[in-house]
Amino acid sequence: MEMNAGKLALPETVREFGFFVDGKWIAAGNRRVIERNSPAHDVPVTRITRCTVDDLNQAVRVARDAFNDRRWSGLSGADRATVLLRAAEGIRARAEELALLETLESGKGISQSRGEVLGAASIYEYAAGAARALHGETFNNLGDNLIGLVIREPIGVVGLITPWNFPFFILSERVPFILASGCTVVAKPSEVTSATTLVMAEILAEAGLPAGVFNVVTGAGSEIGQAMTEHDDIDMLSFTGSTAVGRRALLASAGNFKKLGLELGGKNPQIVFADADLNEAADGVVFGICFNAGQCCVSGSRLIVEKSVAVEFEKLLADKIARVRVGDPLDPNTQVGAIVTSQQNDTILSYIGRGMAEGARLVCGGGALETEKGQFIRPTVFADVRMDMAVAREEIFGPVLTISTFETFEEAIELANDTVYGLAASIWTKNLDKATSAFRRVQAGRVWVNTTIAGGPETPIGGFKQSGHGRETGIYGVEEYTEVKTVHIALGKRDLWV
Ligand code: NDP
Repeated sequence: MEMNAGKLALPETVREFGFFVDGKWIAAGNRRVIERNSPAHDVPVTRITRCTVDDLNQAVRVARDAFNDRRWSGLSGADRATVLLRAAEGIRARAEELALLETLESGKGISQSRGEVLGAASIYEYAAGAARALHGETFNNLGDNLIGLVIREPIGVVGLITPWNFPFFILSERVPFILASGCTVVAKPSEVTSATTLVMAEILAEAGLPAGVFNVVTGAGSEIGQAMTEHDDIDMLSFTGSTAVGRRALLASAGNFKKLGLELGGKNPQIVFADADLNEAADGVVFGICFNAGQCCVSGSRLIVEKSVAVEFEKLLADKIARVRVGDPLDPNTQVGAIVTSQQNDTILSYIGRGMAEGARLVCGGGALETEKGQFIRPTVFADVRMDMAVAREEIFGPVLTISTFETFEEAIELANDTVYGLAASIWTKNLDKATSAFRRVQAGRVWVNTTIAGGPETPIGGFKQSGHGRETGIYGVEEYTEVKTVHIALGKRDLWV
């Protein structure tokens, strides 16, 4: 298959997966299996194993043994980096296979999947450097008889629960950093998008990762995911998904006080000031809500636009949205693919219904795209939205944008921060003072000025308020998976106490 060689065909066979523990594939055997249909084509594309809690327990034991005998944590950062660099090569070598699996299971456009897979390879390359850069501190100011060291150690066994919106990319924003720190992993991908995580286990093994360091169990979130959050032998849990399940994970973590990394929901503002380049801002706002069919934790779902340009801006948005290509994700020209599941599709449609019922004015879209197969939603914009409407407050996780207007800077900031979430925000203005005041005042872990959903593995990501705990990527992303240990070494003769 050539990259970008035109529309891809649906594979003729359903790909079956076992699960991956201790460096080996384990076949489903007599366990139940979950068949996944392509959300764009309604045909089965993959079959994964419904692991049991016993399978999870076994995977945790294997990861614990692999951690305790230091087969990975005992290596130098340079040796760990070598494996991560080989893994990046492995991803590139299998990029087309990974991209197709990602598209078939998630419904996202193939060009986007290709971009995400190649982007993931580059995250492994960055994390390889971070494995070598990770270091502690020394305190050489404690007098001649004492020296203090602050060393970082891998935290231990990490449980990793990932969602369906960016199955491979979100995995890759965590795994290479966890591995760089020296930890071992038990991963549980979403049951609807497990294939690329399973392929990654094979790529890591082929890259020379010792057996037992990266394990994957598959199955239902309510069963295996829940058991992971409660597991007493998991030292840290990295969870990405809904705020509701994140809250459950937080409560469950009390059992063994496991450390938590939580990346949860968002209701992210796009603040557009009248002095912005309105054409560019409109392009960014359309991208911010249509990218991944609005199923991103950082989707810019709340437009807050200065009243004096609101009418003009609304027209620009509607014109651009009419030109967004929604359709078959196997077509490289598609910009917005299918909605991941029928439940998610129903949720989005019910929010669209609520928006209308609550009196928001429909600017464009407003429902499903009629197709013979699959589930697709027309990018939808509501204007005259008040902050007490459900469409303005709740995370819809679909291509639905709300528009509210402001007249003063203070009002813009107040609207932007009027949410329980604090994941991301975008600010559009040509005035540097205004941009700086705004990014200082907005409560969000990631702020973009005159762009949106941009960045790379160098910088940390994570949320304020109910959008989560902790940071992923960047040097922070490795430090996150470490414990800090303080060591004092006495030098010379002891000044006896007794
Ligand atoms: P969930 O939070 O249920 O799913 C996210 C991950 O958690 C999946 O791997 C899921 O597994 C797993 N999971 C489900 N239940 C549990 C549990 N009790 N304990 C531990 N893990 C569990 O999200 P949904 O798929 O239900 O989506 C609902 C909403 O969540 C979306 O509309 C969106 O608002 C938000 N969301 C946010 C994401 C983000 O990136 N911040 C990503 C996904 C969703 P499985 O899929 O196998 O059930």
